[in-house]
Amino acid sequence: MAYVYDDQNIFAKILRGEIPNDTVYEDEYALAFRDIQPQAPVHVLVIPKGPYVTYDHFANAATDAEIVGYSRAIGKVCALLGVSPGEGGQGYRTIANSGDDGVQEVTHLHTHILGGRPLGRMLQRARD
Ligand code: 5GP
Repeated sequence: MAYVYDDQNIFAKILRGEIPNDTVYEDEYALAFRDIQPQAPVHVLVIPKGPYVTYDHFANAATDAEIVGYSRAIGKVCALLGVSPGEGGQGYRTIANSGDDGVQEVTHLHTHILGGRPLGRMLQRARD
């Protein structure tokens, strides 16, 4: 089933300037802003400017320039936040939740960058 982008999702509204955000970084390809309900001392969301629902949608449908631009933006944001291990930071985790099993709340691709404390295991072990 093909992806259908909902232009009324909250991040589309943020991109259009209809809802305020705490911007960390912006360029032609990406916008990075602080999560409204941070799960760690550092919690920033990086979104592409194009209308993509999930990471696989973006990877399959975006232009090469968009993919490079978005990837570079994530690298720049990690450096800006001071979490990049290559620049003396303590590390971070990137997460891109997708679809129902991924528990994606907002249907515009976003990469969470989390850090500022030890983050524990990647996933909780299944209880059953
Ligand atoms: P998801 O579960 O889709 O990966 O994560 C969506 C994230 O967006 C959540 O961490 C949530 O706190 C964040 N979020 C939802 N609405 C807003 C908003 O209006 N502004 C900001 N900055 N973050 C939001």
